[in-house]
Amino acid sequence: MILLDECLSPHVAMVQRDHVRLEWRRRYADSVLERARSVRWTCLCRATVYELYEGGGKAFIRRTVQLDRSPEIHDTFVYSIGEARAIWTGLLSGSAR
Ligand SMILES: [Zn+2]
Repeated sequence: MILLDECLSPHVAMVQRDHVRLEWRRRYADSVLERARSVRWTCLCRATVYELYEGGGKAFIRRTVQLDRSPEIHDTFVYSIGEARAIWTGLLSGSAR
């Protein structure tokens, strides 16, 4: 990982008490990911990094917890791009997690 002096990507806000609880599922297989690509992501300076994947008119969010040995990766359900972008906005603002 490249360490930057300044953070270029957004950080998630502190989670709100009445936030929407996202269901984090086992990561999708690479075959599922072939048509999707990461279009937005949060800053790598935090232990937990979120990415928005879009492709083929669908989208989901991936959560990676950077651990010492290997990262712990979970994905949300697959949504329409509009729904996933709304969830992404909620993640950043702290109203979903
Ligand atoms: Zn940062």
